[in-house]
Amino acid sequence: MGQLALSGVKKRFNKFEVIHGIDLDIRDGEFVVFVGPSGCGKSTLLRMICGLEEITEGECTIDGQRVNDLPPVKRGIAMVFQSYALYPHMSVFENIAFPLRVERLPEAEIKDRVMRAARVLQLESRLQQKPGNLSGGQRQRVAIGRAIVREPSIFLFDEPLSNLDAALRAEMRIELTALHQKLKATMIYVTHDQVEAMTMADRIVVLDGGSISQVGAPLELYHKPDNLFVAGFIGNPRMNFIPGTCTAVGPEGATVSLVTGGTITVPVAAPLGLEGTQITLGIRPEHLTQAAGDLSIDVVPTVVERLGVNTVAYAELEGVGTVSALLPGASAVAPETPATLSFVAADCHLFDADGTALPR
Ligand code: ATP
Repeated sequence: MGQLALSGVKKRFNKFEVIHGIDLDIRDGEFVVFVGPSGCGKSTLLRMICGLEEITEGECTIDGQRVNDLPPVKRGIAMVFQSYALYPHMSVFENIAFPLRVERLPEAEIKDRVMRAARVLQLESRLQQKPGNLSGGQRQRVAIGRAIVREPSIFLFDEPLSNLDAALRAEMRIELTALHQKLKATMIYVTHDQVEAMTMADRIVVLDGGSISQVGAPLELYHKPDNLFVAGFIGNPRMNFIPGTCTAVGPEGATVSLVTGGTITVPVAAPLGLEGTQITLGIRPEHLTQAAGDLSIDVVPTVVERLGVNTVAYAELEGVGTVSALLPGASAVAPETPATLSFVAADCHLFDADGTALPR
């Protein structure tokens, strides 16, 4: 079992509150990713779950049992850190066996558990080597092996891939997803990398300033962000935000007059009081195209990135800042050459003056 619940969890450091009352239920076997910018409280939350940090207020339960006052080793949790913290003088086998030796388990059981972990992680041929002879990815696997042998019901990962180069990160993402499928254990993973969150999570928890901004499946957050923060954080290149004013509200939705010129009626459920207020229109880069649409904006791209399958064009617009368009690889768009980008109303997101998304 590995069901975890946080209820009203707060953290204060010397009266300064950094976590503001988190409520979250994590199902047994779920892969949950905590994501958010630096300082939003991801690590603090993880450290409270595993017992390295005291919970100031609220409750953490694992399989229904309150664990606030249990020491880390009694919680059935294993944590994998960013720095692998391997012992350089010990073999891979001994590094993985280390927590079991601390527990003074019988030698036969230690061997059995280490071999099983090594098989899952494809480290069998490396067991007699020293960490210094391994690649970064293999070292990270040894650190994960050390967590696996404890047979925890919950794994916590604190930015485990951030020391690896881009290619290895991509490889390890796939390995971790496969590991989750094999072990079927609950995994809670902290990262500030939204690509890791999107590719690995069953559910993503987006944190902003010590509070939950939104919780949902990756594509749910992508297609239906609740607010400007989530809309801007999930997706790369980032969603474009164009300021405007709501000029009318009707059964077809809200009509918005944009600072870039023109008006568009977006099919959202808009409250009557919206008329006359400031609105932000959100449009993803892949929804800005060179085909005909409901509304167009004229741009002069400053930078054009040719990625092969896609081309990304960046332009500066007055009152907006940088906008980006994700165009087909063969697009003829060029720097310093005027272009027209169009979009359709159905692809637009609207956010009210508080940054809250208007429901569709
Ligand atoms: P990063 O991605 O940079 O690691 P994070 O989202 O994990 O950031 P935390 O490390 O959890 O953020 O920090 C959350 C807030 O708590 C920050 O404002 C940080 O300065 C503060 N904080 C963390 N640990 C302590 C501490 N021991 N004493 C005082 N403040 C702390």
